[in-house]
Amino acid sequence: VIHLENILKSYHMGNNDLQVLKGVSLNIFKNEYVALMGPSGSGKSTLMNILGCLDTPSGGKYVLSGHDVSTMEDNELARIRNQEIGFVFQQFNLMPRLTALENVAVPLIYAGVSKKEREDKARAMLEKVGLGERYKHRPNELSGGQCQRVAIARALVNDPSLILADEPTGNLDSKTSVEIMDIFGNIHASGNTVVLVTHEEDIAEHARRIVRLRDGVIESDKLNEIKSAVSI
Ligand code: ATP
Ligand code: MG
Repeated sequence: VIHLENILKSYHMGNNDLQVLKGVSLNIFKNEYVALMGPSGSGKSTLMNILGCLDTPSGGKYVLSGHDVSTMEDNELARIRNQEIGFVFQQFNLMPRLTALENVAVPLIYAGVSKKEREDKARAMLEKVGLGERYKHRPNELSGGQCQRVAIARALVNDPSLILADEPTGNLDSKTSVEIMDIFGNIHASGNTVVLVTHEEDIAEHARRIVRLRDGVIESDKLNEIKSAVSI
């Protein structure tokens, strides 16, 4: 699904350039479940934003599901992003004035799906994340864990080939984090490719493969022995 070749990213800071990614090469195949770890400031979110086509690299090559996205124009990039990617953020990023159902249906508006079909699909997705009953509630009437379920349902609703999550449990207590990680486990089990950033080793243990970034390069890339042992 993902092919990264020598990805570079720098930010302009006045007269200086801050080099954040210094040559990241990585392949992620269909139905992999990868945890991306590394110290604060090592470039995890920067890399996730590039993977999610929310930002473009300063150099290198990125091929996503056969499309060379490193050379794409913004409008083409937006289309690929909408079709191929579901993004889950630490801060949920829900629209406060929309109900859970309406939030989940937003990506379908851009995809040109009819209203009836949008509602049906959004309802089905909310059921899938265990929020079937709360579809009429707005984000301020939901707990953090429930908001994150809505955000996950929204990420899944377009049936994307890649689910990206940047510290999805970062704002949640440990019990709720486990519930959310169970949902990611189910998403992976149903055939999705999942890449997830976390600071916590016990969250990363849910993944099959652990990639560690340090100072803008990949420091290590290992199969998670515990997880691969049970599943082989
Ligand atoms: P954390 O674990 O704290 O979330 P991270 O690994 O996700 O850290 P990034 O957010 O990718 O790290 O940031 C890497 C570096 O790039 C940091 O030094 C950060 O200040 C800088 N940076 C990130 N985004 C921008 C931006 N838009 N403009 C300038 N500098 C940025
Ligand atoms: Mg980050």
